[in-house]
Amino acid sequence: MDTVGQAKETASMIRRSCVLFMLVSLLLLGCQQESHNQKQLPTRVSGPFNASRAFSHLVAQVNFGPRVPGTEAHRRCLDYIIHHLSSAAKSLQTQQFPIDCYDEPIKGTNILATFGNGAGEPIFYCCHWDTRPIANKDPNPDNRYKPIPGANDGASGVAVLLELATLFHEKPPPRDVSLVFLDAEDSGDYRECEFCIGSYYLARNLDSVFSERPSFGVLIDMIGDRDLSIPKERYSVALAPDVVNSVWAIARRLGCSQFKDEIGPSVFDDHIWFNRAGVPTIDIIDFDYPVWHTLQDNVDHCSKESLKAVGDVLYALASEK
Ligand SMILES: [Zn+2]
Repeated sequence: MDTVGQAKETASMIRRSCVLFMLVSLLLLGCQQESHNQKQLPTRVSGPFNASRAFSHLVAQVNFGPRVPGTEAHRRCLDYIIHHLSSAAKSLQTQQFPIDCYDEPIKGTNILATFGNGAGEPIFYCCHWDTRPIANKDPNPDNRYKPIPGANDGASGVAVLLELATLFHEKPPPRDVSLVFLDAEDSGDYRECEFCIGSYYLARNLDSVFSERPSFGVLIDMIGDRDLSIPKERYSVALAPDVVNSVWAIARRLGCSQFKDEIGPSVFDDHIWFNRAGVPTIDIIDFDYPVWHTLQDNVDHCSKESLKAVGDVLYALASEK
């Protein structure tokens, strides 16, 4: 190697060292930034929502088997929900509607339980309690005509609302809060069925079950995912921005980091029909669930902590005047 060659080599080493130094500095800066952000996360404030009790409601539903309309497991689950609510609610109603897209005509049942001291304007929380007749997203083609266990997609929302029923019975919220359990949400693409049959029926017959129209609604769906991350659902942001803002402000105050300050995908879900009926309603949903509509939607993919985060936020929202 000649002197010119050595000089070039030295210059190139210096350049490499500079690049390395810059990379290391950026990495360190990134780490500092991250630890700074972590420090900024508010402390988790725990409410009275009992995560273990809620989780036992989730397990009980899964143990009935898939809650497909027209099946014995579906009937047993209906009895379970009604039994729990009948001793807790100040009023309890069921609303039956026809489901005519299965082999034979069957009835679906929406359940509505009301709590509270009647001050201010009433509100409602809802979820679907049926489960999907077909695991059409299952990686194994042999499973795609079997019904899903619906631990997250079905049982998680019911579990949170049943625990809220217990709490609202012990300490009624200032305004009336109705807990609504919607049937036949998840039969879409099965035979001739549409999605959200129960909410469509309820939204068209709101005045027959609500003595006073609710000022807003909150739907919870697929909120038991053990890896829970809830962005702001896009239709909710467009149709009920004030409700989204109230819910996310409470989540921030309680330090529920599962609620993300970002806008997620639009999901066609039960809330759409209530918005069309003139009641602003949001959907709290984590649609990023890898075992969605498969036979793996089971208890192992859910967690108590996820139910508690959503339960604490909804309890705090109901406690506001
Ligand atoms: Zn589903």
